[in-house]
Amino acid sequence: MRIFLLLWLMTFNGCRERQFTKPTPQMDAGPEFWIRVLLLDNIQTASLKITSPFTISGLQIKTPNQPDTPIQIQVSQGKMIIAGEPSESNEVIISPDNPYIFNLDGNDYRGRLKLIFNSDSNSFDAINLVPLEPYLAGVIGAEMPEYWEPEALKAQAIAARTYCLYIKRRFGPNRQWDVTKTQANQIYLGVSAESNLVWDAVNRTQGQVLVCRQADGDKKDIFPAYYSSICGGHTENSSKVFGDSFGPLAGVSCPYCREVAKPAFFFWDTVTLNKTDVSARLLQRYPDLKSLGEIKNIVPIDQSDYGDFSRLTTVKLFGPNGKTNWLRAEDLRLAIDPTGRKLKSAACQIADMRDKWAFSSGRGYGHGVGMCQCGAQGLARKGNTAAQILLFYYPGSDIVNIY
Ligand SMILES: [Zn+2]
Repeated sequence: MRIFLLLWLMTFNGCRERQFTKPTPQMDAGPEFWIRVLLLDNIQTASLKITSPFTISGLQIKTPNQPDTPIQIQVSQGKMIIAGEPSESNEVIISPDNPYIFNLDGNDYRGRLKLIFNSDSNSFDAINLVPLEPYLAGVIGAEMPEYWEPEALKAQAIAARTYCLYIKRRFGPNRQWDVTKTQANQIYLGVSAESNLVWDAVNRTQGQVLVCRQADGDKKDIFPAYYSSICGGHTENSSKVFGDSFGPLAGVSCPYCREVAKPAFFFWDTVTLNKTDVSARLLQRYPDLKSLGEIKNIVPIDQSDYGDFSRLTTVKLFGPNGKTNWLRAEDLRLAIDPTGRKLKSAACQIADMRDKWAFSSGRGYGHGVGMCQCGAQGLARKGNTAAQILLFYYPGSDIVNIY
C-alpha cells in the first residue's frame, strides 16, 4: 500500500515513547481472526524484551529477574539458540502474559512471536501472531495521519480490515505468514503507531468489513479492498494494476484528493533515471527479462485516459536484438524505484532522453486502485460518513459485521 510515511515521520519523528498500556483485546479470538505478520526474515540475531511473565514453547526459560534484560536469539551450529538454550524444534512460539506485548529489536508488538528456523539452517524468520483488531491499531496510524477526520480513519480501518482478511485467505494457506509489515501489503508498526484516535477508529468499526458480489455466483464475500495515497483525479481499475477483477474496483472519478494532497505530490516533478540503472533493476527484479539482454526501449502499449491525465498500465520492453516482453506499468515503477518516493505513480509519460528515461507530467502517489486516502479525508471534511466514503470508492459494496 502506498503510504504517508513522510507525514508519519514528521508526526512521530520515529522516537515517540509508548503511551499505551491498554491490554491487548481479542486474545481469545478464533484462528480465523489472527493475522500472521512477517516482521523480519532471514535474520541471524534478534533481541527480545518482555516485561510481563511469558512462556516459550518447548523451552524452560524463566522470566528474567530484571525485566529489561534482553533475551538474545541467535543461530549457532545449525540450531536456533534462545537465551543460551538450543531449541530442538524449528518452530518456537513466545507468548507474553497480559498485556500481551513484546519488544523485538526495539519495537513493541502485541500478541505472540513465532520464530521459524529456516531450512538453510543458518537463519530464522520472526512472525507476529496478532488478533485482527490490535493488528489494525498498528496499521491505521501508520497508513493515515491520526489527526485526520475520524470518519476518514474509520473508512481506513474498514478497508484495512477487509484487505488483510482477503490476503490472509488468498495467500496465507501457502506460506508461513499472511502479510508483510511493509507497503507491499499495508504498513504495520505495532504499538508505536497506536493512539487514542486510532483505537477509536478501530473500536467504532469493530468487525466491519466490505463485501461484494463475486464473479462466480450470487454470494457476497470480501474482496481485496486496496487503497492508495493520492489517485490524482481518477482511481484505477484493479484488473489493470493487480490483474484481479471485482465490481467495486473498476475505478471512479475523484475530485477530492486535489484539495487535500500537497501540491508537489498531486503534480510531481519530472524524474530522470539512467537507462543502465533502469535496465539493471528490471533484470534483477524480473529474471525472465534477462533473455532480452539489456532493456533498450520502453514503450507504453496500454493506458487509462482520464481526459486531463492518463495512467500507464502496460509497457512493452525491447532488447538490443529485437526481443520483446511486457510488464504492468505499476510493476515497472516499483522495480525501478522500490520505495516509490521518486516515481510516485504510473500516472505519467515516459520519454527517451538519450542515456536517460524521463518520467514527466506525473500525477498522484501510489497505485491508484480502490479508496484514495487523501480523497477520503476530503470527503470526510465535507461531512461524509465512513460508510459514504467507502461506497463512493468501492461502489456496489456493502458493509457487514463478521463479529
Ligand atoms: Zn483521489
